[in-house]
Amino acid sequence: MDAYDVIVLGVGSMGGAACNALAERGASVLGLETYQPGHDQGSAHGGSRIVRQSYFEDPAYVPLLRSAYDGWRRLEEESGRDLLTLCGGIYVGDPASVTFTGSRDAAVQHGLDHEILDAAQIRARFPTMDPADDAMAVYEANAGYVRPEETTIANAEVAVRKGAALRFGERVLRWSATPDGGVEVETGQGRYGADRLVIAPGAWAPQLLADLALPLSIERMVFHWFTPDFAAVPYERWSEEEHPVYIEETHGNQQIYGFPMTDGPERGFKLGFFRLGTPTDPDDVDRVVRDEESTVMQERARQLFPHLSGPVVQAKTCLYSVTPDEHFVIGAHPAYEQVAIACGFSGHGFKFVPVVGEILADLATTGSTTHPIGLFDPTRGVLHPERGEPEPLPS
Ligand SMILES: Cc1cc2nc3c(=O)[nH]c(=O)nc-3n(C[C@H](O)[C@H](O)[C@H](O)COP(=O)(O)OP(=O)(O)OC[C@H]3O[C@@H](n4cnc5c(N)ncnc54)[C@H](O)[C@@H]3O)c2cc1C
Repeated sequence: MDAYDVIVLGVGSMGGAACNALAERGASVLGLETYQPGHDQGSAHGGSRIVRQSYFEDPAYVPLLRSAYDGWRRLEEESGRDLLTLCGGIYVGDPASVTFTGSRDAAVQHGLDHEILDAAQIRARFPTMDPADDAMAVYEANAGYVRPEETTIANAEVAVRKGAALRFGERVLRWSATPDGGVEVETGQGRYGADRLVIAPGAWAPQLLADLALPLSIERMVFHWFTPDFAAVPYERWSEEEHPVYIEETHGNQQIYGFPMTDGPERGFKLGFFRLGTPTDPDDVDRVVRDEESTVMQERARQLFPHLSGPVVQAKTCLYSVTPDEHFVIGAHPAYEQVAIACGFSGHGFKFVPVVGEILADLATTGSTTHPIGLFDPTRGVLHPERGEPEPLPS
């Protein structure tokens, strides 16, 4: 049986970055992946992912985002691929919305460059948008999008160049800890041994980490591309030259998010609902997007983009893995210190890919990391409801 320093289970967004970071450190790495690089069966396809720093989810993410931005530029240099485009980002909401207040608070707390815009200023600056009269926005120039398929391919290519062995089309059937403190992994094609294991299986985490019984909800999400009315607002105003990425939430309305047109006028203007997908089995996803779903999406989108009136160009499904608090799960496996786990990215993980790769390489080589990952602790109470509420601290 071959023996490696580290096996990485799942060479997708996070596992691909881990293979790259581990190979960079001189570890002998084996990556095992069911599908091919850049595939569309998991969570890392659809052409674009928002990157932003004024993070309404929690200001604690901001230091990680700073590291991630450095990592994006490094991966572009190493791979020779164009991955990150900074076209600006706008987070629109009513004055009490989390989208607005959370983005503003994160920006202020971490001294991030940003502007506050009211509804009239939003309309004047971005004529595609007609927000509610009381809407407010945080505009951040240092935001934009990354290319998910190219990223996963880039990490795989660079990892192989640095010496990693990556086996695509090979699904892991089971893994186990060995009595000598190592690990063994079995696929349909063979058995492999290593000192350490990184498990980054995306939507398949409930299967690969069944022993932890994490309360993950695997959800089918849809992104849509619609044709705008270019007679009302010309193409240039929708394109990445002039249009930011955006998130909008007004008066309890479900958050929507989306992108400028990135690939010419024919490809459509891409957007989706941010949360509340339909629970699904990752091996049996309904990949058909129905007309009714497109109608609901377009009606909601037109509250902000009244000229998004044209037909659907394309619609695609994608998978979220959602934790109860919507924070990630990253750390040592609670029962086996030689196993690091990364899952539950809750629909907002992609922008962190380079820094999660570094964190997983830290955990797999030294057992700890200097990156702030306390929020993602796999043993936190919300992931283990059977333990009940934690005792209140003595005052
Ligand atoms: C519709 C949609 C929109 C999103 N928008 C954004 C956004 O704008 N910004 C953002 O930051 N994030 C966004 N995300 C979230 C982000 O894409 C995910 O958080 C991220 O891709 C998760 O990475 P992952 O490595 O956990 O999963 P994946 O990239 O899916 O990788 C997991 C890999 O493990 C493999 N695998 C699983 N089981 C096995 C096995 N048994 N053997 C071998 N291989 C296995 C899978 O095939 C897969 O390739 C979005 C996601 C979706 C679906």
